[in-house]
Amino acid sequence: MHDAIVIGAGPAGLQAALTLGRMHRSALQLDSGEYRNGTVQHMHNMIGEDGTPPAELRARARRELTAYDTVTVRDTAAQRIEGSATEGFRVTLADGSVERGRRVVLATGVADDLPAVPGLAPLWGLKAFTCPFCDGHEHAGRPIAILGPAPRAEHLIGLLGPVVGDITVVPVDGPLGDDDRARLEGLGVRDRKSV
Ligand SMILES: Cc1cc2nc3c(=O)[nH]c(=O)nc-3n(C[C@H](O)[C@H](O)[C@H](O)COP(=O)(O)OP(=O)(O)OC[C@H]3O[C@@H](n4cnc5c(N)ncnc54)[C@H](O)[C@@H]3O)c2cc1C
Repeated sequence: MHDAIVIGAGPAGLQAALTLGRMHRSALQLDSGEYRNGTVQHMHNMIGEDGTPPAELRARARRELTAYDTVTVRDTAAQRIEGSATEGFRVTLADGSVERGRRVVLATGVADDLPAVPGLAPLWGLKAFTCPFCDGHEHAGRPIAILGPAPRAEHLIGLLGPVVGDITVVPVDGPLGDDDRARLEGLGVRDRKSV
């Protein structure tokens, strides 16, 4: 019976495992190898790590965990969780084996639900991004397109206006209404009408 089974080994899960190790709790960490930023070459806007490859951060965190002998990391997926905090949890792994934990830490992250725009998925994390704070500066002075509905585009224009060059709004949910178009044109933005 582990004190905790940590499902996920991105930054959240690795931090949880480090804390458990430092508190001498036995922890099993599971990693199915699917990270939200799996395609990203360099992370930004995190002090001490601005420009670090995310894979390097994860590898370093894993090396740090080797100093704590109560923590074990396994590169496998959890397939099923049963039980409760009173009786403990049973976690079935991809190879069919079962591990037991007094607690389960869910650090499985989130998945980005991309709009159905042809060609977008292969560019994700390489030329198409989600976060102006993470990837805006890398496009300073260059033209960009914002995919999405007008209110969201307006918000992003406010954030990115001082950073990037020309901005083209590409609505993915139908043509812009007259009001939206007028507001965006007032911000000096071109509208490609639809994808
Ligand atoms: C394109 C892009 C660029 C980004 N750039 C930045 C940036 O520059 N700076 C920044 O601070 N943030 C950036 N982010 C956000 C960053 O990726 C997330 O904040 C971060 O990855 C969240 O960490 P996490 O540990 O919660 O999840 P993740 O890193 O996604 O890790 C999830 C973990 O759960 C595991 N998992 C899931 N299901 C199971 C299962 N059933 N069994 C076992 N393991 C499982 C996965 O294998 C993985 O180990 C970016 C995101 C994207 C999409």
